[in-house]
Amino acid sequence: MSKFWSDALNSLQPYVPGEQPKTSNIIKLNTNENPYPPSPKVIEALDHFPMEKLRLYPDPDGSVLKEALSHYFELPMDHVFVGNGSDEVLAHAFMAFFRQKKPLLMPAMTYSFYDVYCNLYNIEAEHIPLTDDFCIDLSQYHQDNGGIIFANPNAPTGIAVSLGEIEELLQRNTNTLVLVDEAYVDFGAESACSLIGKYSNLLVVQTLSKSRSLAGMRIGFALGHPDLIAGLERVKNSFNSYPLDMLALASATAAIEDTSYFAQTVQQIISDRNWTTEQLKSLGFEVLPSSTNFVFARHRTAAGDDLMTYLRHENILVRHFTKPGIENYLRISIGTREEMQTLITALEGYAHI
Ligand code: PMP
Repeated sequence: MSKFWSDALNSLQPYVPGEQPKTSNIIKLNTNENPYPPSPKVIEALDHFPMEKLRLYPDPDGSVLKEALSHYFELPMDHVFVGNGSDEVLAHAFMAFFRQKKPLLMPAMTYSFYDVYCNLYNIEAEHIPLTDDFCIDLSQYHQDNGGIIFANPNAPTGIAVSLGEIEELLQRNTNTLVLVDEAYVDFGAESACSLIGKYSNLLVVQTLSKSRSLAGMRIGFALGHPDLIAGLERVKNSFNSYPLDMLALASATAAIEDTSYFAQTVQQIISDRNWTTEQLKSLGFEVLPSSTNFVFARHRTAAGDDLMTYLRHENILVRHFTKPGIENYLRISIGTREEMQTLITALEGYAHI
């Protein structure tokens, strides 16, 4: 490869996604997917979809989904942006709003895609340390910034900040964008959506990959002041004016409208998370307080990579990060109760526990 191209490529440090195994006998607790199928209303919408329509381009505005989201969140339609997974929505937001002369503030430990986008778009990042107990301390986010981004609840820790803390930040920081990535918010944190009418520099990003069980469809959205939404539309139309295909639009709309299936599956996951937390603690794990569909835990004596390797031999995949400071932690997605029981039984069998 010519040095010119290899230098350009070497400067790109892409995100490394969790493993997607090809075999089906694996209990997959490594990428925070929902263990339940999408709503039956989604399956029905796909079954009845007029396939001959696929020869046409989809609606470039995704209006049917924007309408459903506007109704669900009680916000006007011009406050809604939809995209191909929240990863894409986030990427567009970085491009639109964070290419500033001052650094973008973000937690020192958070969703690692944020650093990938900074690298891609030449944005300087300033990493604000977490507290000793892994919390985001928003009082440390100073005003000399080119924007602020954090995940609430944070990943991979699972810990949430309160709505009051977010509002205090917004009161102090009025000139640059505050982006709250709420990928996991439905599992127990307070959404910042209620602040959108009051703060025009707040952008909230959510996904249908977790609480709505549609990771395979790649659907995310942003909520915020119409000027922010217009900025995102501008970037979107510069890449691809049709971010969501017809099947994704139909599925997402049905998923948002089925509020009872959503509430029931989210409640089940929260209850199984609480059960798993207690079981892990009784096996000698320290478990951070989670407001998500995963737990972040380390054993008092066993090493994180040994535990991950052992579980892999037991056909259970969990996520292990090698980052200094968290190398003994495992991030374990919450599956069905049966899957979590299998995990606990496997851990009971581990020689060092
Ligand atoms: N934000 C956070 C904090 C995440 O963990 C994820 C999932 N890996 C995403 C955003 C992206 O989710 P998706 O692209 O599936 O909507």
